[in-house]
Amino acid sequence: MAAEPQPKALTRKPLLLNKVEGSQDVVNMAAIVPKEDGVISVSEDRTVRVWLKRDSGQYWPSIYHAMPSPCSCMSFNPETRRLSIGLDNGTISEFILSEDYNKMTLVKSYQAHQSRVIMILFVLEMEWVLSTGQDKHFTWHCSESGQRLGGYRTSAGACGLQFDVETRHVFVGDHSGQVTILKLEQESCSLVTTFKGHTGGVTALCWDPIQRVLFSGSSDHSIIMWDIGGRKGTAIELQGHNDKVQSLSYAHHTRQLISCGADGGIVVWNMDVERQETPEWLDSDSCQKCDQPFFWNFKQMWDSKKIGLRQHHCRKCGKAVCGKCSSKRSSIPLMGFEFEVRVCDSCHESITDEERAPTATFHDSKHNIVHVHFDATRGWLLTSGTDKVIKGLLAMDLTCAVQGVHLMVAETQAHQSEFKLLFSARFLRRQQYHQVWDCSRNCAHADEVVESAS
Ligand SMILES: [Zn+2]
Ligand SMILES: [Zn+2]
Repeated sequence: MAAEPQPKALTRKPLLLNKVEGSQDVVNMAAIVPKEDGVISVSEDRTVRVWLKRDSGQYWPSIYHAMPSPCSCMSFNPETRRLSIGLDNGTISEFILSEDYNKMTLVKSYQAHQSRVIMILFVLEMEWVLSTGQDKHFTWHCSESGQRLGGYRTSAGACGLQFDVETRHVFVGDHSGQVTILKLEQESCSLVTTFKGHTGGVTALCWDPIQRVLFSGSSDHSIIMWDIGGRKGTAIELQGHNDKVQSLSYAHHTRQLISCGADGGIVVWNMDVERQETPEWLDSDSCQKCDQPFFWNFKQMWDSKKIGLRQHHCRKCGKAVCGKCSSKRSSIPLMGFEFEVRVCDSCHESITDEERAPTATFHDSKHNIVHVHFDATRGWLLTSGTDKVIKGLLAMDLTCAVQGVHLMVAETQAHQSEFKLLFSARFLRRQQYHQVWDCSRNCAHADEVVESAS
């Protein structure tokens, strides 16, 4: 028997393995089938598809199943091959996939929500199906009896849903920016607490049951790491995206957080690094460095015959400072600032080059990522996205960069014609597709591919 592959840290730039194309509308969610060269996708075009890699190297549907309503989300359990699908009409349908992934059989359906199901999570240990909907409800059902076990009204529609099997706590992150923590019993639930840290809606949640850390991604571009296991109330901010964070995944073995943004950015965060909390911003009527009054401080302005200045804050020490005393910028990776931010002059001097070393790696997928799935055993990353022009650019750049990939792109075109799509139209048409990235392979061309695409 072959030895299990050892997980490797994702230090290499990801190499684009393949693209799975052909969906007529947005692919809302997709997952890699473990141990198989396969992908399951659910789409706004009402289809559920299982794509298996064929001898040609292309992913080709082995299952193409049309649902009565657009498919908004899914949860796949590989051990039981159970596929739970959330629909736009509020229904959750459960299927069992055959061993060869050529057939899917309906097991049962639940009328779980009044409107679109946003997130769904099947918990094998409890035989529970957890879900959130646009009707601002969190509900959970018994997957054996099909019975509704309970529900909770959230303050807004919730895009983040995670569950801790050990303590039966559920985390629900909603559009208001709040994370609600509920304790689930067999037929009741109680509110434990809420976390408020984002200035925009929560778009994704990710729970690490080992370190007992919750990550929340937001449309405010930031990620917050809530250290629940540390019991000190520590919340670390991670600033590494220039657009909405859309999806999160955690690689347990290598302790890396993978975050994807609406701008196509994939950031891989080293979570072995010990980061500090950002300081509270201090209040002052005058610069805490040079003592010049701020513009609302009329008394000091009059007394000292000085012009009032605008107030800024140093991101490192939190002091209220004037523009002149905070003219420099620096990244502070150990505080989660991977990009340059305002710091006061003395803090700027105190930050060493060593402390400026990035603690995350940045990659550009060149498509608007709506969902990401990470297969830890192979180090494969599957991104689902929506895009038009960007995809065309990516294919062309790859063609220029690597001969091997060129062939792959050419094959894709051959299949596209079988879909009766014109190649020239591909660049204009609204395209939805997944990309499969190999993040573990030590490929000499990997850097080239990414660099030429950026
Ligand atoms: Zn000053
Ligand atoms: Zn400072």
